[in-house]
Amino acid sequence: MNTYIEDVLKDLKSRNADQPEFLQAAEEVLTTLGPVIDAHPEYQENAVLERLVEPERTIMFRVPWIDDTGVVRINRGYRVQFNSAIGPYKGGLRFDPTVNLSILKFLGFEQIFKNSLTTLPLGGGKGGSDFNPKQSPHTPGKRCSDREVMRFCQSFMTELYRHVGPNTDVPAGDMNVGGREIGYLFGQYRKITNEWSGVLTGKALSFGGSLIRPEATGYGCVYFAENMLATRNQNFEGKTCAISGSGNVASYAAKKLIKLGAKVITLSDRSGAIYAENGLTIADVKAIMDLKEVKRGELSEIAATLPNVKFFAHAKVWQIADAVDCAFPCARQNELDADDAGYLLKHGCGLVAEGANMPSTPDAVAAFLKAGILYAPGKAANAGGVATSGLEMSQNAERMYWTAKTVDDKLREIMGAIHANAFEAAAKYGHAGNYVVGANVAGFIKVADAMVAQGI
Ligand code: NAP
Repeated sequence: MNTYIEDVLKDLKSRNADQPEFLQAAEEVLTTLGPVIDAHPEYQENAVLERLVEPERTIMFRVPWIDDTGVVRINRGYRVQFNSAIGPYKGGLRFDPTVNLSILKFLGFEQIFKNSLTTLPLGGGKGGSDFNPKQSPHTPGKRCSDREVMRFCQSFMTELYRHVGPNTDVPAGDMNVGGREIGYLFGQYRKITNEWSGVLTGKALSFGGSLIRPEATGYGCVYFAENMLATRNQNFEGKTCAISGSGNVASYAAKKLIKLGAKVITLSDRSGAIYAENGLTIADVKAIMDLKEVKRGELSEIAATLPNVKFFAHAKVWQIADAVDCAFPCARQNELDADDAGYLLKHGCGLVAEGANMPSTPDAVAAFLKAGILYAPGKAANAGGVATSGLEMSQNAERMYWTAKTVDDKLREIMGAIHANAFEAAAKYGHAGNYVVGANVAGFIKVADAMVAQGI
């Protein structure tokens, strides 16, 4: 490995020993940048890597709120503003008990490259809280009520508002932060600042949201995978696809795949996995979305209502079927390990496109690359969400609304451009067909050049 990269990684590990997810993400990127660093001595002269791995700013704050029984609860809020060299910080907010600085730094770091790849002027950031909307603090087995979620969001924004703005930092949703939460956060920002601005994306259509934003990450992931298949003269017609998760990304990926003629055989959540041997229908996916988004239920409840579907409690989706052509991990980080990768490869899998962020462990990624299958890392394959957030920002700035077709066409075009950039960068730096190297290199060069041009 290049000695400059080695030194930066060594220092990074000693300074962030307690942040395994962040180290995993940083190591994955830095170890692919050797040929670029060799070709551009100005990056080392300007300490680009040392600066790149240190967030420009990290904000941690107390979030006090009052539950429905009148008890005061305290959570921890965060915003990691990682890099704004090419545009305002942009990245989602995640509310989950697993949220900590390591997870948010990993996500914020990934976001720098992903946002750069979108071809739009967007910097990288990420934030959230260890608040768990899926577990009421006072009634075991029950979710927080809408009012509790609202009070939490208002308190969260009461601190966050001073650090964000349409030209500074524009958060969006992520796990457990959907339309409801974005609405409450936006309402509080507007009240405090007395200003209507595009400070958040993922808003409802009635107050500045963009058509196709909810669909964008799942659709975009499928568009990226379509581009990969085209390099081998294939398409989705008749392909058997396994998807994990059943949230925003998973459900729209499922819908788009079914529309393109693929057979979607699995979805999952924390309660377990569902398997439909003959493939889910669009009506099945709609019923699942209604269960998850409206009734806020679990997949364990759906098997009884869908006769073509089997439920496996607490199972992952990867080792259920005997034959899988394409896999779409769309749930969470490190959900697909080397064992799962081995099983998928043995059972015919020729394409993996990551809807989630870093869902495949490093060993799993190594197995996919060794096997020479089409493998798209999340930072390229799931960039459609943030790209469409960028389109929402443009519409807000113009005070205009674009049609669903306009936004979908732009999304498709952007995913095509990301694919082309990653594909070409991989070939140029001696790793033809390796989308990990291609995405890292293409995303990195734009940010690195901007950092050099703007001085230390
Ligand atoms: P979401 O709507 O909250 O869905 C997450 C899904 O993952 C749910 O089905 C959830 O199950 C499942 N899940 C979470 N933890 C799990 C666990 N420990 N075991 C099994 N299943 C688990 O979130 P999302 O927006 O679809 O995001 C999914 C992934 O995509 C995340 O990695 C996110 O960072 C990434 N991503 C999202 C976007 C976007 O625009 N939404 C953009 C880029 C990347 P439960 O319902 O049971 O919790």
